[in-house]
Amino acid sequence: MRESAIPKELAKPTAILVDLDDTLIDDSGGLEISWKTACHEAASRLGGMTAEDLLASIHQAREWFWSDPERHRTGRAALRTTTRHIVHLALQDLGIDDLELARDIAERYRDLRDEALVLFPDVLDALDKLKGAAIRLALVTNGSGPAQLSKIERFELARFFDHVQIEGDFGVGKPDPSVYLNALDKLKADPSNAWSVGDNLEWDVLAPKRLGCTGIWIRYQRDDPLRRRLSSESRYTENPDQPDRIIDSFVELPGLLQ
Ligand SMILES: [Mg+2]
Repeated sequence: MRESAIPKELAKPTAILVDLDDTLIDDSGGLEISWKTACHEAASRLGGMTAEDLLASIHQAREWFWSDPERHRTGRAALRTTTRHIVHLALQDLGIDDLELARDIAERYRDLRDEALVLFPDVLDALDKLKGAAIRLALVTNGSGPAQLSKIERFELARFFDHVQIEGDFGVGKPDPSVYLNALDKLKADPSNAWSVGDNLEWDVLAPKRLGCTGIWIRYQRDDPLRRRLSSESRYTENPDQPDRIIDSFVELPGLLQ
């Protein structure tokens, strides 16, 4: 499909399901530097290996761990334990079997990631505009209850939302259909009058789109071949396996209401 394809009309929604991490909060922005710092700080404890060796090994272990949906589901429910496990695997691959070192690196990494969290610029203003347009909003996020709630409180986001639904509290996470259907029910909205927006193409866009929602994908700046291919192929499409709109950041969302 060419980029110049004519977009279908988007009717103003009565409700929007909004993702949290890497949609409102820049969750991944501190990822690379946090790993680098944690590994370099532990360099003197790596025997003959270097921090770069460990970084490469951690990258491989992360890829392996998070590539499996079931491991992903259980792993994100206890991020610090999961991170410790991943670092331990990475160290073992380098011939270093040291649980204490794995724990120290993992804890330091997680602390650095938490410190690095920020809202994307102008997110609060965009949420204000959506509220001003009398649209009911649900914050729908995967992850543990305490971890996600602490982010919501830290950035004072709850005030914008008519419903907040965290995987750890609800018991089920995206992309299970019950997640979107429950949130829509709480907002008293029909899928045909609702949008879902977020950075995860499957969880935030295509899964709710299959239920009848309009799917708005935030084409995030991270380097991802699938995202690059999709964004170059189709900005506008009616294909159910493609987003209805692709935007570059959440702040563009109010502009789609006209
Ligand atoms: Mg996300």
